[in-house]
Amino acid sequence: MTYYFTSLIQSSECRVNVIPKQAQVVIVGGGIVGCSVAYHLVGRGYKDVVLLERKQLTSGTTWHAAGLVGQLRATHNLTRLAQYTTELYSKLEEISGQATGFRQVGSLAIANDLGRLEELKRGASMARCFGLDVNVLTPGEAKALWPLMDVADLIGAVHLPRDGQTNPIDTTQALVKAAKAGGARIFENVKVTGIVVENGVAKGVRTSDGELRSEFVVNCAGMWAHELGCSVDAAVPLHAAEHFYIVTEPIAGLQKNLPVLRDGNACSYFKEDAGKLLVGWFEPVAKAWGYEGIAENFEFETLPNDLDHIEPLLEAAIRRVPALGDAGIQLFFNGPESFTPDNRYLLGETPEVRNLYVAAGFNSIGIQSAGGAGKVLADWIVDGHPPMDLWDVDIRRMVPFQRNRKYLKDRTVESLGLLYAMHWPFRQPESARGVRRSVLHDRLKAKGACFGELAGWERPNWFAPEGVEPRYEYSFGRQNWFQYSAAEHRSTRQGVALFDQSSFGKYVLEGPDAETVLNNICANDVAVAVGRVVYTQWLNNRGGIEADLTVTREATDRYLIVTAAATQTRDLAWLKRNIPDSARVVAYDITSAYSVLGVMGPDSRKVLSKLTNADLSNDAFPFARSQIIDVGYARVRASRITYVGELGWELYIPTEFSQGVFDALYEEGFPSNIKLAGYHAMNSLRLEKGYRHWGHDITDEDTPLEAGLGFAVALSKSTFVGKDALLRQHESGLKRRLVQFALENPERLLYHNEPIWRDGVLSGRITSGMFGHTVGTALGMGYVENQNGIADAAFVNGGTYEIEIAGERIKARANLSAPYDPKSFRVKDIADQSAPPISVTS
Ligand SMILES: Cc1cc2nc3c(=O)[nH]c(=O)nc-3n(C[C@H](O)[C@H](O)[C@H](O)COP(=O)(O)OP(=O)(O)OC[C@H]3O[C@@H](n4cnc5c(N)ncnc54)[C@H](O)[C@@H]3O)c2cc1C
Repeated sequence: MTYYFTSLIQSSECRVNVIPKQAQVVIVGGGIVGCSVAYHLVGRGYKDVVLLERKQLTSGTTWHAAGLVGQLRATHNLTRLAQYTTELYSKLEEISGQATGFRQVGSLAIANDLGRLEELKRGASMARCFGLDVNVLTPGEAKALWPLMDVADLIGAVHLPRDGQTNPIDTTQALVKAAKAGGARIFENVKVTGIVVENGVAKGVRTSDGELRSEFVVNCAGMWAHELGCSVDAAVPLHAAEHFYIVTEPIAGLQKNLPVLRDGNACSYFKEDAGKLLVGWFEPVAKAWGYEGIAENFEFETLPNDLDHIEPLLEAAIRRVPALGDAGIQLFFNGPESFTPDNRYLLGETPEVRNLYVAAGFNSIGIQSAGGAGKVLADWIVDGHPPMDLWDVDIRRMVPFQRNRKYLKDRTVESLGLLYAMHWPFRQPESARGVRRSVLHDRLKAKGACFGELAGWERPNWFAPEGVEPRYEYSFGRQNWFQYSAAEHRSTRQGVALFDQSSFGKYVLEGPDAETVLNNICANDVAVAVGRVVYTQWLNNRGGIEADLTVTREATDRYLIVTAAATQTRDLAWLKRNIPDSARVVAYDITSAYSVLGVMGPDSRKVLSKLTNADLSNDAFPFARSQIIDVGYARVRASRITYVGELGWELYIPTEFSQGVFDALYEEGFPSNIKLAGYHAMNSLRLEKGYRHWGHDITDEDTPLEAGLGFAVALSKSTFVGKDALLRQHESGLKRRLVQFALENPERLLYHNEPIWRDGVLSGRITSGMFGHTVGTALGMGYVENQNGIADAAFVNGGTYEIEIAGERIKARANLSAPYDPKSFRVKDIADQSAPPISVTS
């Protein structure tokens, strides 16, 4: 294995441990990620950058990586960042003067069943949105590129000619050389023993060689990042797992510069290197490692082999490349790598400690992601905000419990395999389940709920009728729950349905300055009468949408803020950081204190009226009002709002009263044929109504004007965060608009990331999609750009549209308003004389 160490010798010059007392940025960890952050920071003009490595550079995980540099990833952000990495590595040798071993040999991903082929083709379509060079091949064409491969069972492949492979150590050293040339100082054998935090702000690090004060601290400590973060209560949820590969003896007839071969269904990858094959695996049941901690002297370590574990994997690899069966094995390798609960890395400023940034948990794609991750993190530090929507990888998507070691260990067993597993739509994790349960969980389970998981919450996605097992059968077509979810949708449109929405994030902002503080954070006007509910966005200074939520005025000095489960951590952090030091308010999280039951549908008033003496008429209880009312034996906050586009109330019930209220509602709803409904039905209903979903349709790089949410912006207010940016955009006109699409072929389904073609020109991508059971076809939203002018209604309506699904373009109708009840007659419960009767088609 000596060739791995060649370039380490060159780094010996920087092993003199005289660390400074002060720096602008301290980076903890000298793996490829820390070095990339250093390189990009100096590139942004930060010269006073210090990187500290406890042992030698690359001695953690980086040194033993296989060096695959692929660009096509499961999400658009991961793809965009990997794409940048490839571009950087292709010129890094020229930039640094250090050979990297990067070779642009391309990659080949193969499919031997229809599901895998659809996944690859959908990925190829997504890749086109970012200008990636990608070709769909026949088995014969794939064989021509990889002659030693058995293609008898193949039905197709995807080739990315510009993918590559690199030497991870040399590439890291090239980043180091370029970073040092730009002024960065790099110290080996200096261990960071703690982070200095004062008043919630990182102020430097304590090290084996003394204290170093700094403006920013960046935790790039690989699998040690969890422990380092926890030392200051900043959760970095990751856990190591064992990752296996072998290297063969030279194989006769093995072509040079073969593309990297990925056989997802066999969990295998194959890389040609110097006439040998490196074969590695992402098996479905992996081995978590390091639960008890990592030895202090861990440096360039390998882990013991486990031939029993890899034997079935090796056999599958031999079936794909039979020549492997005759090849001698030079090296059985096993090394640890960190994995996160959702198989995406952790990037950004921690919500707990200001100026403490993280780039860790790279799930075995750290080499191919390091360039992009280092770049965007450097931009984030220098500019104070991410350079683009990074929600996929943003550390603020994590919730505090996720630092729990047992949870991480149990989930990691599954996370490793997810890299090559089928990325089915609606795929749910199978490990570490049942972590956060609503108090209604057991009741819903008894009534057939099939739960999905989000931020640890078990949430009913759909309900199986009696005799049907509540279990997913995945496919890219209509899955087994389609008809049951359609029935839930129907009940909501035509009768009444109950939704358990307890996972909503809920906060209180309270104090004499609550109105002033919140009105500056909210784009809408929240200086309203007590009992009013306001739908609003929180914007950044660029006008981008940081949060999308409702604000209920509970008292003159108290607001209830309700947001999605996925953004519980992020939105609370945003709220707290936007409270001026001098303001007399407190913000606190009350998520666990209340269950939320949505009683939705035209019959909701009838059902609810049986349990309360409150007047629920339009006059006494109009839309967007909230009151505390009796329901059964409980006192609950009833808010007349909806995410499904019908008359309905969200009931905020103190947790201990929730089961009683649920039982009473269910019983009273019986004569009205009340139905329990899940999140899949809700998604279908909200898309028909054109309700946006933060993280998909609206993010911190989209403004309310672009998103068609101008109605929720109170430009008449004297000031609020983001107002100036909106005014500027209003004046200059919009270059892009969020448009709603309905497919003309109702058999095809939209999920997200499908390219949008306008008059034959690639103009955007679908941000979210679902089948709309009332309109009878798949619906999607997506931004349409006008490169050469203004994206006004005339531009949007003047085009013909196609949505690309797995390489095929399907005609679509585009509309700026909602496909269902665009004037909200039903939500407001006002008769619409012009409306045709509702017919639910599926
Ligand atoms: C077998 C294997 C094959 C792989 N193949 C690929 C591949 O083909 N392509 C790909 O993209 N990725 C691959 N990976 C993943 C890739 O190697 C990692 O994602 C990547 O190296 C992570 O880099 P890092 O800088 O985050 O972590 P590391 O390389 O582990 O760097 C973290 C550094 O922080 C230091 N450190 C920790 N704590 C402290 C402290 N308190 N003070 C100072 N220093 C500290 C450590 O010593 C370590 O050097 C592979 C991984 C494995 C295990």
